[in-house]
Amino acid sequence: MKEKNLNNINVYNQKMIIGNREVDSVNGEFISVTNPADGSVVGTVPNGCSTDVKKAVESSDSAFYVWKKVDSKDRAKRMINAATMVSEKKQEIAKMLTIEQGKPLSESLGEVSQVIEILNYYAEEAKRIGGYVIPYKARHMCSMAVKEPIGVTAIIGPWNYPLALLALKIGPALACGCTAVVKPSSLTPLAAVEMIKSILHGGDFPPGTLNVITGYGSEIGVELCKNPTIRKISFTGSTDVGKSLMREAADGLKTLSLELGGNSPLIVWADADLETAVKDAVKRSYRNMGQICNSVNRIYVHKDIYEEFIHMFIEKTRCLKIGNGLDGGIDLGPMASRKAVERVKRHIEDALKKGAEIRYGGKKPDGKVFEKGYFFEPTVLTDVNHNMLVMTEETFGPVAPIMSVSNVDEAIKLANDSRYGLVSYAYTKNIDLVYKFVAELEAGTVVINHVSATNLDAPYGGIKESGFGRECGPYALEEYLYTKHISLNCRRLEK
Ligand code: NAD
Repeated sequence: MKEKNLNNINVYNQKMIIGNREVDSVNGEFISVTNPADGSVVGTVPNGCSTDVKKAVESSDSAFYVWKKVDSKDRAKRMINAATMVSEKKQEIAKMLTIEQGKPLSESLGEVSQVIEILNYYAEEAKRIGGYVIPYKARHMCSMAVKEPIGVTAIIGPWNYPLALLALKIGPALACGCTAVVKPSSLTPLAAVEMIKSILHGGDFPPGTLNVITGYGSEIGVELCKNPTIRKISFTGSTDVGKSLMREAADGLKTLSLELGGNSPLIVWADADLETAVKDAVKRSYRNMGQICNSVNRIYVHKDIYEEFIHMFIEKTRCLKIGNGLDGGIDLGPMASRKAVERVKRHIEDALKKGAEIRYGGKKPDGKVFEKGYFFEPTVLTDVNHNMLVMTEETFGPVAPIMSVSNVDEAIKLANDSRYGLVSYAYTKNIDLVYKFVAELEAGTVVINHVSATNLDAPYGGIKESGFGRECGPYALEEYLYTKHISLNCRRLEK
């Protein structure tokens, strides 16, 4: 349902979805969704509770026994139709995303395009899920390994890429024959619910194939982890919540995929193409206001080019235009929440107390248009060290701490000095150094001479406290399948 608020922006009152029906919570409660650019209320969703989760799980369980038997070509066709429907609703979904999350509209449109690409990709992959035959010593015996869908899955997503990160789970889950209860972030549920409505409408899936429960994770999470019908939890979010899910799910021995926090280093060596390294470093430090799991969190620059790098980095940072995500021509919107801004301020204060210098930014931008929103200037810090939170914890904000290093072993040691291991970036033209970085940087993904850490065809995921499991490519399918051994005595078959 749409209404207009005082700023003449549509207010979206979304419902939860159970068994293809739009429903409120049994408790009758709602939560408000606000626009981080001005604090205005732009929608509501039901405040789901454990009773709602139980109903959704029951519905997904019934759907599982239908959906898993749908043959893979039909599954693929429905997923392609679902992608087409998302495509038809692209503008509306993207606008909702910008008004609840803050990112520029062009980036929201890009995120919806990613969703369409992901659904189409996994529609194709659905047809390629196979197994293998294992040689037996006796000729009349036959062993086969086949892949079966794991079952009802709980899909829990964060607010920074609320659509693409859900789609990276929904796509392979549906392709494998799983059904799911989806829980979007309470900060950004509006576009996610709209996306799932489009998927369900377009794909004509059995009722319950995808159910959506909105509300607070702290309330809904326990039931999702404890409910014995749920066989798998697929989560993207913070390391702390990932750990708590693992503890809660231990009793039921549920399978988990955890895509968690990062603290990604970028090393720029003296021989690197400096212009490109600076341009890419600025982009990957500030895009989406630094609210990306693989944002560049800390930069190590060879001492011979350190001052020049800082000078060029600040000049490029100065060119970034901040504003309301719905206005054209902006590079950066507001941060997603007050809490996010507070963490950035806390990390900067901690760094300053320990001797860091702010070389650019460090505050809310001046101007009336920024007063009510969660805006913050992109910030450059120097004189940083590993006693500071900005170097050891995920700031998840537009802060670029830059440190000088003098030898390659020191740079690698500092890069690896983290409890996280999601992505590491490095720039050099020296092939020996490339091999050294690739071999010695501890991360799920090592990226050399560019900053695009994800490729839909290639595996993506972390090591250490960045989690486990892999998304993207055919690798993601394994997360939603189990291997069944079939042993057959052919002598006992009818001739
Ligand atoms: P978060 O952990 O606070 O929340 C993620 C989701 O979990 C939300 O839907 C939230 O409602 C839910 N949740 C919270 N408590 C819960 C509980 N007890 N039980 C069940 N669900 C619960 O994370 P966030 O702030 O939304 O997202 C930012 C974090 O996500 C960052 O740490 C970022 O690095 C990480 N992230 C990781 C990746 C990756 O691929 N590794 C991608 C994007 C974001």
